[in-house]
Amino acid sequence: MNSVDIVVPCYNEEEVLETFYQVTEEVVASMAGYHFTYIFVDDGSRDSTLKKLYGLAQAHENVRYLSFSRNFGKEAAMYAGLSYSSGDLVIIMDADLQHPPSMIPQMMKGIEEGFDCAAARRTTRAGESRIRSAFSSLFYRLSNRMSDVKMPQAAVDFRIMTRQMVNSILELSEVERFSKGIFAWVGYETKWYPYENVERTLGTTKWSFRGLLKYAIDGITSFSISPLRMVSGMGFLISIVAFIYIIATLIQTLVFGIDVPGYVTTLCAVLFLGGIIELSIGILGEYIAHIYMEAKDRPIYILKTTNLPKKETGSGHKETFK
Ligand code: UDP
Ligand code: MG
Repeated sequence: MNSVDIVVPCYNEEEVLETFYQVTEEVVASMAGYHFTYIFVDDGSRDSTLKKLYGLAQAHENVRYLSFSRNFGKEAAMYAGLSYSSGDLVIIMDADLQHPPSMIPQMMKGIEEGFDCAAARRTTRAGESRIRSAFSSLFYRLSNRMSDVKMPQAAVDFRIMTRQMVNSILELSEVERFSKGIFAWVGYETKWYPYENVERTLGTTKWSFRGLLKYAIDGITSFSISPLRMVSGMGFLISIVAFIYIIATLIQTLVFGIDVPGYVTTLCAVLFLGGIIELSIGILGEYIAHIYMEAKDRPIYILKTTNLPKKETGSGHKETFK
């Protein structure tokens, strides 16, 4: 009998939790050879999510919960769920039923075939705004071009992983986590399962456009240093152009005598270079910000309550899983 932990990050999901449990339980209860345990991670919800979790845990013996002291974000919630998991296999999925539980048996076949990971990939983006889809595909194109870690577009955080892969993920204990990149970075064989996007019927999305933009910038800067190389490249290119311009002006002055230089040319050059310098400082700043956040070495999350056996630290502080 294989033990399977289902890790579910939840932020203000009071409306869906019970439905989620019922629907998922219906699917997994009939799967022979596996024993499922749920690890719900309440990510500092402001609604009655935690109360619902108490209720679920009381009613069903296979429900565990972790609750944070405040909202730490989905990445932190996933990390906490994974680090408290002990199953031979771990499933990560959203609470809002946008990750169809009916896919679990099919995905489990992939693991039985010997894959280390079975993951879902959206084939459509129905129900998502055009602008959001456009930005998302721009992000994947940019990030895959810049980084050695190739993230498949439309991959979602719905996957089954072996204990070995989970342990590898936990070894990447960076504070600013970008799971899509981390999943790809650790390697292992992944089998992809396409599915049609399901619209959220209960509750609301927890993402704002600003949040997504920040996520995209973090995603690129945490897995690639190409933007830094771009800064050096740009500097090099501009120096060459400037050098050619200087030589040309020098020759012009020697041959045709001193001319009154154009005001517009000077202004353009100053403004253009000013812009490039600001941009370069901004890019450097992004990396310095990462160094700053990591150097502080704060815990990834702070645990307030749980019905799981507590770990010594009780928080996401650099634990090594070997
Ligand atoms: N979530 C979380 N912490 C957050 C934001 C979201 O744990 O700060 C959870 C949320 O409860 C849900 C999952 O992450 O289970 C995905 O969130 P959502 O459905 O809002 O994102 P979308 O499906 O729109 O990408
Ligand atoms: Mg969702």
